[in-house]
Amino acid sequence: MTTQVLPADEAGIAEAARLIREAQPVAVPTETVYGLAADATSGEAVARIYAAKGRPSFNPLIVHVAGLEQAERIARFGAAARALAERYWPGPLTLVLPLREEAGIASIVTAGLPTIALRASAHPAMQGLIAASGRPLAAPSANASGRISPTKAEHVLDSLGDRIPLILDAGQTSHGLESTIVAVADGAVRLLRPGPISAEELGAVAVATPDRVIAPGQLASHYAPAKPLRLDAVEAGADEWLIGFGPIGGDVTLSAGGDLVEAAARLFDLLHDADRRPVAGIAVAPIPRDGLGNAINDRLQRAAAPRTEPDQ
Ligand code: AMP
Ligand code: MG
Repeated sequence: MTTQVLPADEAGIAEAARLIREAQPVAVPTETVYGLAADATSGEAVARIYAAKGRPSFNPLIVHVAGLEQAERIARFGAAARALAERYWPGPLTLVLPLREEAGIASIVTAGLPTIALRASAHPAMQGLIAASGRPLAAPSANASGRISPTKAEHVLDSLGDRIPLILDAGQTSHGLESTIVAVADGAVRLLRPGPISAEELGAVAVATPDRVIAPGQLASHYAPAKPLRLDAVEAGADEWLIGFGPIGGDVTLSAGGDLVEAAARLFDLLHDADRRPVAGIAVAPIPRDGLGNAINDRLQRAAAPRTEPDQ
């Protein structure tokens, strides 16, 4: 595919919004770096981000929203989260919060986790694209896996040229440093990633609210099913739920036609579903180890590995 580069003006944003509604990823500037954005309510659109970046594994992605009102429809805000959003949005602050299941965010966005990372960018191109497409936008940095984050449209073109349909060009981004990430849950504010807004600044705001701790922290970064998982299965064993792919039908299928984009989009939903079935184990048919199939196999292998610590 040829990659179009358009100025991030009204016409460019209208064309980008059209592609977003067609479940295509589009590169768009934010105040930090260029992001590769796709409709966060479409699993297939988000799977195409992974396909374009060639990412070998699924990580939870940040979802861009217009502001607090749209964010509150997607996640549960307590007092501290609301205070932080009111003080720093729009701006380079990402909040990790409990996800509202009913919000319709595709499970590949959170990699199956019950939390979601939300951000309201101050950049008019990102704001314009959210408004014009009418969708919350999942957007990691717009670079091929393993390359550095792009701060100019030319960087995106070098790294993802021919792999995405459109780049919106608004020149150099202003921070060049990825957003500060904070998790707010269970009465605690935890810094997950340092960034343009410092921990000291955030602490001053958090102290004025009931949730008052600001500390470095970690959060479960991956979902894994509770049941044992067997890979490369050609049929179900006794008391196993089989997730099929292509010619192997199974109880359900990731993709009957062997389509990796469809399979990636359905992966976390089908794992959650299998965990709820009244069977002892989960088996998954072989998935080809190329392109998106690498990320799918990576996630399945981690989920199948014997665990030495309790699941997070
Ligand atoms: P980026 O690579 O800039 O898109 O940042 C994504 C990072 O945000 C991930 O590597 C996580 O550190 C963090 N993140 C996103 N979503 C979540 C989530 N649901 N729970 C915890 N951390 C998250
Ligand atoms: Mg990145």
